Amino acid sequence: MPKTVLVINSGSSSIKYQLVDPDIGHAMASGLVERIGEDVGHLHHRYSLREVDLNQPIADHAQALRLVLDLFDEVGPHLDEANIVAVGHRIVQGGRYFSGPALIDDRVRGLIKELSTLAPLHNPPALKGIEVAQDLLPDIPQVAVFDTAFFQDLPAQAALYALDREIAEKYSIRRYGAHGTSHQYVSKRVAEILGGKDLKQIVLHLGNGASASAIDGPHAMDTSMGLTPLEGLVMGTRTGDIDPAVVFHLQRVAGMSVDEVDVLMNRRSGLRGLAGDNDMRAVREMFRSGDHNVRQRAREALDVYINRLVKYIGAYTAEMGGVDVITFTAGIGENDIDLRREVCQRLQFFGVVLDEDANNQRPRDPITISARGSSVRVMVVPTNEELAIAKQALTLV
Ligand code: AMP
Repeated sequence: MPKTVLVINSGSSSIKYQLVDPDIGHAMASGLVERIGEDVGHLHHRYSLREVDLNQPIADHAQALRLVLDLFDEVGPHLDEANIVAVGHRIVQGGRYFSGPALIDDRVRGLIKELSTLAPLHNPPALKGIEVAQDLLPDIPQVAVFDTAFFQDLPAQAALYALDREIAEKYSIRRYGAHGTSHQYVSKRVAEILGGKDLKQIVLHLGNGASASAIDGPHAMDTSMGLTPLEGLVMGTRTGDIDPAVVFHLQRVAGMSVDEVDVLMNRRSGLRGLAGDNDMRAVREMFRSGDHNVRQRAREALDVYINRLVKYIGAYTAEMGGVDVITFTAGIGENDIDLRREVCQRLQFFGVVLDEDANNQRPRDPITISARGSSVRVMVVPTNEELAIAKQALTLV
């Protein structure tokens, strides 16, 4: 059995996991526990050609992980034969403390807990996942891999908000970014494939959450997510950039509380707010609706989505003084052929030319979708955050 890493991504009511062979990038087993703490939870486990689904109450993360480990033994692969050398945990917020992965000890756990104020929905469940995994797999080193780490060294011009310095420092307010593991993985793949160390890259991670980054050589220069993942691109349910005065206005005029505005902007906005559904496939489906209003809302949602993307591409090109490669990744970036075409059409003015045939794919491996002679290479590179976490975890054990 090759060396493997168990990658765990704990959400507030879910745990995603994968057993990864980091050398060949293969997920040997994977699964998802959902609806933890609800009346009926659901667990899906896949190993080789076998898939198992369980529906039963799952009280908490400890029970969830115990069920997962039982399934490894029942369905495979057996844990004592799986040769797990590390457990890699995805942690959303590493604050100022972490610019790379960290072996988890009491100090690291304490810092992740301290950073919960910056990521109240993400760090506490991740911490729970760590505690349970340490309890159930006490002999295996546990590694924290931070979504913010790749952006830890952003230059001050991108990291600082133009806010009162004392307040910003006192409350640790700056641009931390997110999806860093994906931006780093994708930009490294591009550099490997093109054999270039000094490429100026723009990576567009377009999933349910979405972010853009500007990367010069190996260094992240800017990214669209900010103190939290709310800033930047239009997302499935998040506004992305919005005038902060909207918050004051809603409080003063609509009498909404801070928590209500938080829910509005994080969960009821973006594609969902504009079109009525956060799933891009559903928004595309709305175009085929016989209802004029539904069609128009879907078109407007997409226009806002694409306009924001084009704006960031323009801004990042100017920031870096040029761009060599623009790469699409994540659910929408890898699969939405029309969106890639629409974005590239908007970039024709600076010489981007799409290869329509190449673009008509939903690739499993990296591809170039720009035509020969295009001023900028455009690529699609499937992201693999689990593999990236596994590789990073392996560097520490
Ligand atoms: P992710 O968060 O990376 O899993 O991406 C989820 C997003 O990808 C959702 O908005 C999906 O609708 C979108 N997506 C997945 N497949 C397609 C597709 N074939 N066309 C358009 N969007 C897609």
